[in-house]
Amino acid sequence: MSGKIDLHVHTTASDGSYSPSEIIMLAFQCQLSAVAITDHDSTAGYSEADSAGARFGIEVVPGIEISTRWKCAVHILGYYFDPDSPGLRALLHDIVSERDRRNEEICKLMRKDGIRVSYSDMKSRFGSVIGRPHFAQLLTDQGMASDVQDAFTRYMEIGRPYFRPRSFIRTDHAIHIIREAGGIPVLAHPFQYRLDDSGLRQLIEDGVSAGLLGLECLYSGYSERQSRYLLDLAAHYHLLITGGSDFHGKPKPHISLGSGTGNLNVPYFYLENLKDAKQNLIMSH
Ligand code: AMP
Ligand code: ZN
Ligand code: FE
Ligand code: FE
Repeated sequence: MSGKIDLHVHTTASDGSYSPSEIIMLAFQCQLSAVAITDHDSTAGYSEADSAGARFGIEVVPGIEISTRWKCAVHILGYYFDPDSPGLRALLHDIVSERDRRNEEICKLMRKDGIRVSYSDMKSRFGSVIGRPHFAQLLTDQGMASDVQDAFTRYMEIGRPYFRPRSFIRTDHAIHIIREAGGIPVLAHPFQYRLDDSGLRQLIEDGVSAGLLGLECLYSGYSERQSRYLLDLAAHYHLLITGGSDFHGKPKPHISLGSGTGNLNVPYFYLENLKDAKQNLIMSH
């Protein structure tokens, strides 16, 4: 296998606007050879994507993205885990329950202001993993904002009227659970945390102590120089290299599948290395 891949993609199983099958059709149009489905807190999109992938000749990698807390908010990607692992299932159940709790609070705040919103309607429309992007969509649909971005800035960002906090699991815990499920934990978009060099090294070292195995070195908007710095860090800490766009469709209209903001190019051999690592995990088990 060769060609271009994308290892960080969201679908309607979380807050992406395209269904898993639509993602595969897009991947086909962009001539990608593989995509990983990495929805927030959900593995529900994988099987549909995998069936569509078989029809279109596109390799589909099972994945997930989990929001965690370290000294700051940190996102951990997981690949090639057993989706039926009891530990992982329990963790995802807890995370979705915590989302539900927070989301019901947001609904109450909105209803107080006379906005017509029912959480059960939102669940039927948007699925089981509901986040602020869905509320932003709802406000946009009701004419209270011009688009999702505008709705975030006015209503959903921290400090705005309909922001309510979620509580997050610890980064090391998420890493443990992914490892226990036979998966490969990867630190997502390392520049998102606004850490300096020593802060990022501390995060990586703490991650590695917990079982972190990879670093997302190629990502939408990262310059050649930024990626080079991350590739050096990956080499230094003996981490696998991954890369992806974080495609969401309409919620992040500036990001395209496979090519990110234009110059993203993730080569297939990173996936080869990921699969070799998975084989080694199986053998050493
Ligand atoms: P939640 O986990 O439900 O609190 O929502 C977090 C999600 O909202 C993240 O995955 C982001 O993709 C999205 N998000 C956060 N801030 C913004 C923003 N300012 N504009 C657009 N999307 C955002
Ligand atoms: Zn998202
Ligand atoms: Fe993320
Ligand atoms: Fe993401």
